[in-house]
Order: sequence, then structure tokens, then C-alpha cells
Amino acid sequence: MTIQEVYTLSNGYKIPTIGFGTWQTPDGEVAKEAVFQAIQAGYRHIDTASAYKNEKSVGEGIKASGISREELFITTKLGSKGHSYQAAKNAIDASLQQLQLDYVDLYLIHWPNPLAIRDRWQEGNALAWRAMEEAVAEGKIRSLGVSNFLSHHLDTLFESANIKPVINQLFLNPSDQQEQIVDYNKSHGILSEGYSPLGTGKIFEVKELQKIAEKYNKTVAQLAIRWSLQQGFIPLPKSIHEDRIRENLAVFDFVISEEDLVRINQLKGMFGVAPNPDLVNF
Ligand code: NDP
Repeated sequence: MTIQEVYTLSNGYKIPTIGFGTWQTPDGEVAKEAVFQAIQAGYRHIDTASAYKNEKSVGEGIKASGISREELFITTKLGSKGHSYQAAKNAIDASLQQLQLDYVDLYLIHWPNPLAIRDRWQEGNALAWRAMEEAVAEGKIRSLGVSNFLSHHLDTLFESANIKPVINQLFLNPSDQQEQIVDYNKSHGILSEGYSPLGTGKIFEVKELQKIAEKYNKTVAQLAIRWSLQQGFIPLPKSIHEDRIRENLAVFDFVISEEDLVRINQLKGMFGVAPNPDLVNF
């Protein structure tokens, strides 16, 4: 495996195996520079969201990179106010405008049941999905997906969807491997993207991981990203520092042994678990 490696989505499009995360990356020069540095370092897959309020700067970083659009895989997400037909249509156009792109490669429903529609999320998602399907037909989006969806959210979506989701983006790292929904995704041909692969920084406090990383002469970040790849996930590490942006890609020259995978998998719960979308305020 190399940084050029891709997975094939169930609709035939290709997705680079590591994406660059941009949550909590401040809008303006910081986001623009981080995205620019990421593309210079070799990332070809960028993950943003309307909720991150940095799509404009992410778009500027993409433009500044000079890399052709076809070589890049850009994801953005429908925010919590977008769960109706017209709101989703408007949100897609707004994201494209902010990003200064003609299309995005992947568009995700960010959250299955934001508080504002928690009593009618089924209808909200079906209507938003219809708008997303139309945007696919119009060439504004290539692939559709979801994030933070559990099996009952997907089962319900399948009742009305014509286009199948190709990705489910989830909190996935050694602290929570979400076996149930990951297995469900697999059985439906949906790839699992791993958000917070470094536990939003919490992973660096886990001593056991430091010991294992030292064995491979790698950092904890590299160990966690490599672990994610070996689980078949698509990790989305975020950093605003050029050295870390590069460090997080140097994960293709070692393989974690089966024995160490078992040790890592035993760390479940060490720094928190995935949010339950049915319970948290979003
Ligand atoms: P990560 O798990 O990627 O961790 C990022 C943190 O680790 C930052 O504090 C960063 O600091 C630090 N860090 C990164 N690399 C290194 C390194 N090599 N050494 C030491 N510290 C490092 O965080 P996120 O929670 O942001 O998740 C990644 C991405 O996943 C998001 O940016 C977003 O794109 C996506 N996401 C999606 C969600 C969803 O609901 N769909 C929810 C959460 C995230 P610094 O930047 O200062 O280097």
C-alpha cells in the first residue's frame, strides 16, 4: 500500500485510502495553508463540512495547490439545518460556492437526527437524500454517503433511497471500533471512514500505544493511522502543522503484527467511545 493507493467505492469511483481532516481548523489562512501543505505532502483526499465553517479557505487551499481537480477527492457534509428537500438543495449549492468547485466527490449527511428534527428524522433524511440524488444527476456530486449513522438510520434511509450510500463516516480508533455498525456497513458494500483517528488528540496519553509505537520506530499517530488502514478503514487525520501533516502520511513502510493488533484492540474505551447519535445534542 502507498499514499497513491485507492479503494473502489460500490459505485465504481475511487477514493484515496487516507483523507485529510479539517474540523477545528480555523477559517482563513490557517485552513488554507493546512490544506495547501497537505496536498503538497501527498494527500489527495480532503474532508470538510459546512459545520466546520472553513469551506471557503479549504477551497482556497485546493486552488493554491495547483493540483488538477480530477486528481483530488473532496468531501463535504450536509449540516444540521439541511434535513429537508429545499434546505438540502440550498446547502449543496452553498457548499459548492464556498469551496469554489463545480462538484464534490462525496457528500454526506453529517448527522442522522439533529435535535431540530429528532422527532421526524426519517422524513428529514429521505427528503434531503432526494435533493442529494438530484444533485448527483446534475453533476454537482459524484457519490453519496452518511456519517454517524447506525443500522436503524440506514435501514430507514434504504426504504426511500434510489442511490445507495457508499461511505459511512464514523468515530473509529483504538478506543472504539464500533464492530456492529462496521459489520453492517461491510454487508451493504459501504466503506467505513474513520474520523478522529487520533481521538482528537487524546490518543497521545495512552502509554501502551507509545510502547507499541516505539517497537516499530514510529510515532503514536503513525501507529494509530496504520492500525486504521489495517482494519480496512479510511482514516481522516487532522493537523495544522506541516511536520505532523507529513508524519501522518509516513505509514506505508511498516505493518503492525497480528499480536500487536490484538494488544491495540484491547485498549477499547481508553479515551472515550463514539457518540450515540440518538442521544447527543447535535
Ligand atoms: P484527530 O483524531 O485527527 O486528531 C487531531 C488532533 O491531533 C489535533 O489536536 C492535532 O493537533 C493532533 N495531531 C495530529 N497529528 C499529530 C501528530 N502527528 N502528533 C501529535 N499530535 C497530532 O482529530 P479530529 O477529531 O479532528 O478527526 C479528524 C477528522 O475527522 C476531522 O478533522 C474531520 O474532518 C473528521 N471528523 C468528522 C466528524 C463527523 O461527525 N463526521 C467528527 C469529528 C471529526 P494539530 O492540528 O495542532 O497538529
